[in-house]
Amino acid sequence: MSISENIKKYRSELPEDVKLVAISKTKPNEDLMEAYEAGQRIFGENKIQEMTDKWEELPKDIEWHMVGHVQRNKVKYMAPYVNLIHAVDSLKLLKEINKRAKQNERSIDCLLQIKIAEEDSKFGISRQEAREILESEAYAEMKHVNIVGLMGMATFTEDKKQVREEFDRLKSAFDDFSQDFPELKEISMGMSGDYKIAVECGSTIVRIGSSIFGERNYN
Ligand SMILES: *Cc1c(COP(=O)(O)O)cnc(C)c1O
Repeated sequence: MSISENIKKYRSELPEDVKLVAISKTKPNEDLMEAYEAGQRIFGENKIQEMTDKWEELPKDIEWHMVGHVQRNKVKYMAPYVNLIHAVDSLKLLKEINKRAKQNERSIDCLLQIKIAEEDSKFGISRQEAREILESEAYAEMKHVNIVGLMGMATFTEDKKQVREEFDRLKSAFDDFSQDFPELKEISMGMSGDYKIAVECGSTIVRIGSSIFGERNYN
């Protein structure tokens, strides 16, 4: 199927209140434009330089989401335009985002990345560390970042039961936090291989790359 057919398929298949982020990392602008012309407006990237190049060249009504691990010294490059940063994993990073957002006279929405996978290669913080950030005085004083939810990545495995347990873990952290922090609205979980389970577990944002754009070539 073509990129535009894939976009339409996902749009009709996903519940209306679940946002689709088209993960376009490594893909050329022509591919993003095909998705754009099929109505897609939210794109996700994992490298700040690549995202910034695409932001400069593509239509300005695109919403750009940074889904990858973020290095503090690169925050400044995306601060003028980024819409949502999915993988915030420290107060230090949040401080830098706040500082750069302020310089650009805007405020930036963020998600805290919680480590839910068994495998230890994945980034993220514990539920307790996330709560400490939310409750910290430092965060309370930041006027230019809003933590609007949580993000997580399940283990890359065929074991659906395990994936479901990991997504349930994120949903349960979300339910726990949102009693004290009603501004938390989003749960970013689910990729090409596991988005159906993620939606069943309460995802509000799915991040789909290869099953829209095809396999990625890294060279
Ligand atoms: C690449 C990536 C995705 C998309 O993965 P696919 O399996 O191609 O759908 C989702 N989330 C993050 C954080 C990614 O880096």
